[in-house]
Amino acid sequence: MGKKIIKNTEKPIQKYRFFIQSAFSLLCLYIGLEFYLFIRYLESNGALNFYQRPPGVEGFLPISSMMSLYYFFSTGQIHQAHPAGMFIFLAIILVSLLFGKAFCSWLCPIGFISELIGDFGEKLFKRKFRLPKFLDYMLRSLKYLLLGFFVYSIFFIMDNLAIKAFLDSPYNLVADIKLYYFFADISRFSLVVISALIFLSVFIRNFWCRFLCPYGALLGLLSFLSPNKIKRNPVSCIDCGKCAKACPSAIKVDKVITVISDECTSCLNCVDACPVADTLQVRSVIAKKKIPKKIIGIAVVLVFMIVTGIGMLTGHWRNNITKEQYLIHHSQMGSYGHPTGTEETRQFNNSVRRNY
Ligand code: SF4
Ligand code: SF4
Repeated sequence: MGKKIIKNTEKPIQKYRFFIQSAFSLLCLYIGLEFYLFIRYLESNGALNFYQRPPGVEGFLPISSMMSLYYFFSTGQIHQAHPAGMFIFLAIILVSLLFGKAFCSWLCPIGFISELIGDFGEKLFKRKFRLPKFLDYMLRSLKYLLLGFFVYSIFFIMDNLAIKAFLDSPYNLVADIKLYYFFADISRFSLVVISALIFLSVFIRNFWCRFLCPYGALLGLLSFLSPNKIKRNPVSCIDCGKCAKACPSAIKVDKVITVISDECTSCLNCVDACPVADTLQVRSVIAKKKIPKKIIGIAVVLVFMIVTGIGMLTGHWRNNITKEQYLIHHSQMGSYGHPTGTEETRQFNNSVRRNY
């Protein structure tokens, strides 16, 4: 006797996800514009109108933010160089602990652009390209090597003093400005690398995210701890394979009971694609309950807003570097290399403070 199939009538969530991704990317663009105006002010040596530096730009400094968070946990103090970066990093970590790599598919602007390029590629070629398994595994390990390098350098080589020296260093204070010039005065080599990544993303979906992003690697590892997972009910499943086909991360959703994968981004494409009611759903392992799709999107945004909101409301959002100090840093930053020692850093900061 065949299975009685109850049709899945739940509305797809992808439109809402697209909306949230677009809104977050627009917010990042707005922050970028504000930062550009701030740089113009610095370049004019204070002659142009002053624009506040947007603290949100620190979200693009993950290494410094990770060190700030480590410094906070080991000393109880919030370092004042990039405090917003620390709160943004913490928010992303919490999102991942709760909903897996949801940051990648709901909020990350790079993930969003990657996805749009992948969609374009699929429309253009009317097919999905997949790398041979061994090559895919080999390339996927690259992002873990990069993550391992950063984790080893920060947690195993540096002690609290060395971390503080780095965070205090002029190099770290202007890391966001250096990042701006990296893109504004981009070298031919960097341009070639970025163009190659974009080109490859047309064929291999999320090339950067899947193979190279150390941030994604970290979130993927944390996602194993998430209590909310995609679950398939093998009793009502009709083995149509639509979920696996819809998965942008090439996970064989139709072959497992619970999706436990560092590549799952909680995008819910598989849940949307499933034609049978309540067969594929996000379930809380703790509450043993189904979590409605909309709640995932709302919760991801809420967790992010609450954690960054705490930073804002407690006065730990803007750093304490004055515009005069920024003007000095900007005029001298060409000589800033990686910090070489605490004494050098302390002397420099003292000289800036003395001047203002
Ligand atoms: S398993 Fe489902 S939620 Fe996870 S990446 Fe694939 S489609 Fe998205
Ligand atoms: S989409 Fe996946 S979970 Fe849903 S019925 Fe088909 S194979 Fe089963």
